[in-house]
Amino acid sequence: MKRIGRRAKILVVVIVYFLVCLCVLLGRYAKNAEKWVVHPANQDVYQNGVPTGKGTVLSKDGTVLLTLDENGTSYAAKDALLRKATLHAVGDLNDNISTGVLKTKKAKLIGYDRINGTYSPFSLGDSVKLTIDAETSKAAYQALGNYNGAVGVYNYLTGEIICMVSKPSYDPMDPPDLDGDSYKGVYINRVVNGVYTPGSVFKLITSAAAIDTIDDIYDQTFTCRGGIEINGEWIACTGNHGEISFEEALAKSCNAAFAEISNQVGKETLLNYVQDAGVNNQFSISGIKTSKGNFGLSKADEVGLAWAGIGQYTDMVNPMQFLIYMGAIANGGTAVTPYYVDSTAKLLNQVKLGSKENRMLSQDTADQLKKLMRNNVESEYGDSRFDGLSICGKTGTAEVDDGRPHAWFVGFSDDPSVPLAFVVVVENGGSGTGTAIPVAQATLKAAAKAVE
Ligand SMILES: [Zn+2]
Repeated sequence: MKRIGRRAKILVVVIVYFLVCLCVLLGRYAKNAEKWVVHPANQDVYQNGVPTGKGTVLSKDGTVLLTLDENGTSYAAKDALLRKATLHAVGDLNDNISTGVLKTKKAKLIGYDRINGTYSPFSLGDSVKLTIDAETSKAAYQALGNYNGAVGVYNYLTGEIICMVSKPSYDPMDPPDLDGDSYKGVYINRVVNGVYTPGSVFKLITSAAAIDTIDDIYDQTFTCRGGIEINGEWIACTGNHGEISFEEALAKSCNAAFAEISNQVGKETLLNYVQDAGVNNQFSISGIKTSKGNFGLSKADEVGLAWAGIGQYTDMVNPMQFLIYMGAIANGGTAVTPYYVDSTAKLLNQVKLGSKENRMLSQDTADQLKKLMRNNVESEYGDSRFDGLSICGKTGTAEVDDGRPHAWFVGFSDDPSVPLAFVVVVENGGSGTGTAIPVAQATLKAAAKAVE
């Protein structure tokens, strides 16, 4: 009896051990199967290093951008301009572009599912639908001309990213030698992972702080003599604005006024508003993390604080974060999270709209900023340039160490039937008004048709 009892115990131990191992294996399978199946060493899926399958990638308007079949992967877009303009959303064959769906949705595109693997005769592969519009992407890419940069447009009510163009790019059907200087950082999607000196677009964040915390901000008059002296140091302005109000100071982007406003706001308050705007945060966009900006005042004196509120000093921002901030202003203070892979995200995002954790500004502050940004366009940039879209905007001309300034233009349409927010950064493009506004004009014209 004793011996049988001992055998039974051993058997129980063996069975338990077997079950534990099985659980570990199933756990690892559930967690990693997708990774294993899309690994380039899997010869059932790859042919000469190129993934095969049954899926397609489509743009918002239904243009086929990529197809996978038993022979490999092909970029189906017929014109090279569209292939270049959508490369950072579609991806490259070697998975160098981290935001490409060819990398992030590979398992789906090769026709893998957890139950049947890749062998099922019933598996038809799957299409991945992007929210990216083909015509808008082409318009943005073309408008950048010979410049590098980032152009993002999204529907601030639904979160759909209509345009996500990053330059430099290249034609994946005819790849050039990418080692040269002109292709530096070519795999980086600059909208999602670029980080730039913001220049005067940053004055919007400083303005939000000023609206809330300086009681008489609309009644004050600032004096610009081509700049202003702060603590014995000269803060240069791009104009000589004389006596100027807060509203005019934003429209004319007066550095002298904003140097004073930054110091009236103070370090701690400015830091809080920068934090609320999400400058130092990462956002998740269709599963991809955006790059953090940088804003710090620990070593700043009054001169540093002045330049920081103007958008220079050590300030760095990410275009997607700024796009989200524009969406928040347009939406009365709360932002809808953008996405570019069509899915249930649309519903989830709409539910999020108006929730407290997404609040970047109070309703009242957002409304006041909207009014100021509308005035910028009407009094300075020219409303007629935007085909009746009721654009609210702010330009930026960000001084950088290497070459001409980066040209910025950010904003949104206040017309609820065209709910578009946008960000344009033209690297070393010179002035925001001269170079970035025309890029926005061309892009918005196409984007407005896409949301009709
Ligand atoms: Zn000035």
